[in-house]
Amino acid sequence: MDFEENRRELVENLKERGILTQKKVINAMLKVPREQFIPKSVKSSAYIDTPLSIGSGQTISAPHMNAMMCEILDFKEGDKVLEIGTGSGYHAALCAELVAPEGSKNPGHIYTIERHENLAKKARENLRNLDYDKHISVIIGDGTVGYPKEAPYDKILVTAASPLPIPSPFKEQLKDGGILCIPAGSRQFTQNLYKITKKGDKFKKKRITGVRFVSLIGKHGFNES
Ligand code: SAM
Repeated sequence: MDFEENRRELVENLKERGILTQKKVINAMLKVPREQFIPKSVKSSAYIDTPLSIGSGQTISAPHMNAMMCEILDFKEGDKVLEIGTGSGYHAALCAELVAPEGSKNPGHIYTIERHENLAKKARENLRNLDYDKHISVIIGDGTVGYPKEAPYDKILVTAASPLPIPSPFKEQLKDGGILCIPAGSRQFTQNLYKITKKGDKFKKKRITGVRFVSLIGKHGFNES
């Protein structure tokens, strides 16, 4: 299987569909090997634009969703990022390529939280194998409370579907001028992806598109069950 060729083809397809437009995001998607973040059983599907099972009833998102969220967040070198829902670690690696590119004199950092210990440990291993661990800290816990210890963040990325209203810790832990990208809405049906920008004590909320994510479970999320 020629993963690199498949990766290039997927990126071309996302460009043709108008999903990938920013050069820096294109380069990140070309660089991070998705096949190294997924179980052996699904490796042959690594570059099909679909979510894939990673165990514990969870998924790695479809590549078009990773691309779309990275473009919405408009990452800058040096950004401090909070991700809720580490899953496989793949999206965190994309973020690292954007905020801490190779040779950066001002590398940013990603704090990513996962509630399933086994997934968090596997993600740490995946990230270490590819040398992303110096720019990414994987934390085990309930991400719905955010990560106050390192707040405020330039960007917050939530990769599981949140209830509405948006959990207050995410708004509180965002920097003035920062961006929050979050899928939110109903647990059973589709949700909407939102771009929320903070200006002083005001929040501008923009609906991007309808989406379907696994649930955000925790104190400020949905109940487990
Ligand atoms: N970003 C991931 C990747 O690149 O593989 C995919 C994330 S998956 C769609 C959503 C993840 O959110 C799941 O791994 C799930 O366990 C996690 N999750 C759900 N609720 C959470 C919470 N309160 N805190 C941390 N992680 C949570």
